Amino acid sequence: MMTSSPFLTEDDYLHCIRCGQCLAVCPTYRLTLNETDSPRARVALLRAVREGVLERPTDRTAAQFFRCLLCGACTFTCPSGVTVDRVLELTRGEMAHLGLLPQPLAALNARIRESHNISAEPPESRLLWAQNLPAMPTGVGKAQAEVVYFVGCVGALFPRSYGIPQSFVQILEGAGVDYGLLGGEEWCCGYPLAINGDLEGAREMMRHNLETVRATGARTLVTTCPSCFHFWKHAYPAALEEDLGFEVRHATEFLADLLESGRVPLRDDLPPQTVTYHDPCDLGRKGGIFDAPRRILRAIPGVTLVEMAENQGGSHCCGGGGNLESMDPALSQAVAARRIRQAAETGAQIVVSACQQCERTLFNAARAERLRLRVKDIAEIVLEAMRRQDADERR
Ligand code: SF4
Ligand code: SF4
Repeated sequence: MMTSSPFLTEDDYLHCIRCGQCLAVCPTYRLTLNETDSPRARVALLRAVREGVLERPTDRTAAQFFRCLLCGACTFTCPSGVTVDRVLELTRGEMAHLGLLPQPLAALNARIRESHNISAEPPESRLLWAQNLPAMPTGVGKAQAEVVYFVGCVGALFPRSYGIPQSFVQILEGAGVDYGLLGGEEWCCGYPLAINGDLEGAREMMRHNLETVRATGARTLVTTCPSCFHFWKHAYPAALEEDLGFEVRHATEFLADLLESGRVPLRDDLPPQTVTYHDPCDLGRKGGIFDAPRRILRAIPGVTLVEMAENQGGSHCCGGGGNLESMDPALSQAVAARRIRQAAETGAQIVVSACQQCERTLFNAARAERLRLRVKDIAEIVLEAMRRQDADERR
C-alpha cells in the first residue's frame, strides 16, 4: 500500500462523484468505449491504489495512467472541480517511482537525459533547420538579445516541422525584432521527463535552460511550442522556486502584437481562403490562449475563419499529447483521425494550428484519411501573408 507519496499533492480526486460527465469528452474513451480508458476509471483506480484496496499496482495498472493524452478535456468538464489531468500527471510520477514506467517512456527519458533532446541527436543538429534559409538567421550566435526564441525539440529536430522555426525567424527579422537563438545550448524544456515521472531530470533541464537564457539578458522568452510555453510559464518558477526574471510568451501572443502594431506589413493581393483553427491543449485549455491566434487569422486579408464543432475550451486533442504517441501509436493516430475529420466537416481548405506536434499529427492524419485538407502552423500562414519587400527594408 502506498501511504505517503513524495509526488502526489492534489487531493481533489477525492471529490469525484462518479457522474461520468468526463466520459463524453475523453478522446481515448470515446474511441475505445472501454471504461478503463475513461478519466472516471483512472481516478477510481488511483483512489483504490492509494486507499490500499489494490495492494500494489502492476504494469497493467500503471499503463492505464499512461494511455492518456493529458489533454485536460476531463478537467474542463468536471462539475466537481477534479483536476483530472494534473492528478494523472502526478500519478505517473508515483508509478515511475515504483519502477512501473512503461518501457517506451523509460527509453524516452533515457534519451533526453543523455542527449538533452527527445530524439538522441547531437547538439549541433539543433540548427539544421536554419541551413536552407536564404540567409543564416541573425539570431544565431547572438550573445545578448532582447528576445530569446526557444525553438523546442520537435521544431528543431524533426525535418517535417522545420517550416515553423524557419517561418517564425523570418517574421521576427521582417519586424525588426532583436532576437537570439540558443542553438546547441538549448536543451529539452523538461516537460516530457516531468510527465514521465523524472522530476529530477526535468529540473536539470530547467536549471540549464534558465541559466542560458538569463546570460543573454533577454526580457522575453518566446516559444512556438505550446508545451514548452506551458512548462516554462508555470512549471519553471514553481519547480525552481524562483522568479524567472523575464516574461514567457507564446508565439501567437507575440505575433498578434506585432501585427496589431503594424510591424508585420501584410499583402493585400492574397486569394480568399477558408481556414479552421485547432486549439492545442497546452495553449488553449491549459494556457488560456484562445483569442490571440484567432486575432491573427482574422487580421490576414482574404482569410475566413470557420470553427470546428469542438473548439476553444471544448477542443478535441490532436492525438499528440501526453507522450501517448510513444506509448500507443495506434490509439494516438485514431485520436488524430477523429480530429482531422472534424476539421474536414467545416468545409475549410486549411486547418491551422499553433503547435508543431498538432501540425505533425494532423498532417499525418489528413494523409491517412485521404482528405484534401492542408495543415499549417500559424507562423507559416503569417509568413505567406507578409509583404516581404517592406519587411526586407526594415532589416
Ligand atoms: S466528471 Fe469529475 S466527478 Fe464526474 S466522473 Fe469525471 S472526474 Fe468524477
Ligand atoms: S486528460 Fe484527456 S485523454 Fe486523459 S483522461 Fe482526461 S480527457 Fe481522457
